[in-house]
Amino acid sequence: MAVRPLDVDDRRIVIENAAIATVDAAGTEYARGHVVVLDNTVESVGDGPAPAGLAGVARRIDGEGHLLTPGLVNTHHHFYQWLTRGLAQNDTLFDWLVALYPTWARIDAELMHAATLGSAAALLKSGCTTAADHHYVFPRGAGDLLGASIEAVQQLGLRFTALRGSMDRSRKDGGLPPDHAVEDTDEILAASEAAVDRWHDASFGSMLHIALAPCSPFSVSTELLTLSSELARRKGVRLHTHGSETAEEAEFCRKLFGMGPTDYFESTGWLGEDVWMAHCVHLTDSDLAKFAETGTGVAHCPSSNARLAAGIARVPDMLAAGVPVGLGVDGTASNESGLLGTELRNALLINRLAGRPDALTVRQSLRLATMGGARVLGRQHEIGSIEPGKLADLALWKIDGLLHSTIADPVAALVLGALPPLTTLLVNGIPVIEHDHLTTADESHIARTCARAARDLASRT
Ligand code: ZN
Repeated sequence: MAVRPLDVDDRRIVIENAAIATVDAAGTEYARGHVVVLDNTVESVGDGPAPAGLAGVARRIDGEGHLLTPGLVNTHHHFYQWLTRGLAQNDTLFDWLVALYPTWARIDAELMHAATLGSAAALLKSGCTTAADHHYVFPRGAGDLLGASIEAVQQLGLRFTALRGSMDRSRKDGGLPPDHAVEDTDEILAASEAAVDRWHDASFGSMLHIALAPCSPFSVSTELLTLSSELARRKGVRLHTHGSETAEEAEFCRKLFGMGPTDYFESTGWLGEDVWMAHCVHLTDSDLAKFAETGTGVAHCPSSNARLAAGIARVPDMLAAGVPVGLGVDGTASNESGLLGTELRNALLINRLAGRPDALTVRQSLRLATMGGARVLGRQHEIGSIEPGKLADLALWKIDGLLHSTIADPVAALVLGALPPLTTLLVNGIPVIEHDHLTTADESHIARTCARAARDLASRT
């Protein structure tokens, strides 16, 4: 569906008659409220209809039968894996990685562009308005992989944190990746700094952040971890990695470094408010206290943890201790659905499986996916809740249809029910989804392009 661009006189979008979960600090909700968007920010939110006499209204959306939430924030992903889904179906992390590294090491910029279109489209279609993509495979001669993914994301209109990832510890140095899949330490640091200089936009409302993201303790050198943390702090960007994902990883760290993953990260400058780590399934009480003390964030990836039998992260304990926690899809080679919206349900269910019916409530799950993610990405003043002055990243879920009309609580309809249809998704005040479809690209074209790219990549192995 074509969307009329806003001209200078038509700067407002009004949404009325919707149930609204603002996810502000007080958890304010309206049974039937309104939001006024002015350009790319929220001008007002409140109970009942929008104020009368608003000028320059480009569009009025009737939210009857809908729940309006902040756009969802994805804190961990690997977009390139869109081309390698459904493989190594019954492996745990290390065997799964060893099975897939040789294929991944043949990615190039054209395939990266296609994979990003697929991954980003799936995220948008499940209510995600901001996503972080952790890309760490940079084969020699593969072209500008980060540039290709940024271009594809910009085409679809998603707010983006591109993570310049890296691997420099291969098998010959006791690591897990094959020797041909890693880069040289100095090259990584130079490319990381260049990526920050070229792309990182720290301004309010930025559509593009860069962060530095060496892959994991078993695929990067101690030197790279230390130098990356120093470089990130010098450049004022955030740090991300995988941490404490499996028992095998903890064992690897104890063997090689004589300490567990969290103590190892601490020794390389990797705990702090500017750091977030994916998974953190195997945190001891002492690890958890260190995360809380330093404000280190966690990207909780429930489906991926289940798919790889990694274990159940201690999310209720993390929240009780004040650790910042967001949700992540993780790469689609370990979470083929690729949807962020369904992770709200899976986070709640999986954390309850650890033993307590109140381990996570529906509202806590929604908060993880919105404000939690915003805090983890260092953007809590811009996104994650519906409040005047914050960016207009909004998801309007239809909850009066067959699958949802009998669920008593609108937030429960979103979190416990099937993922509702998405009537409208605004990113930066621009509608990028209308009635479940992208406004910015042809989905069947993306599907065909991705299928071709996946066959191409498989044939290279
Ligand atoms: Zn991951």
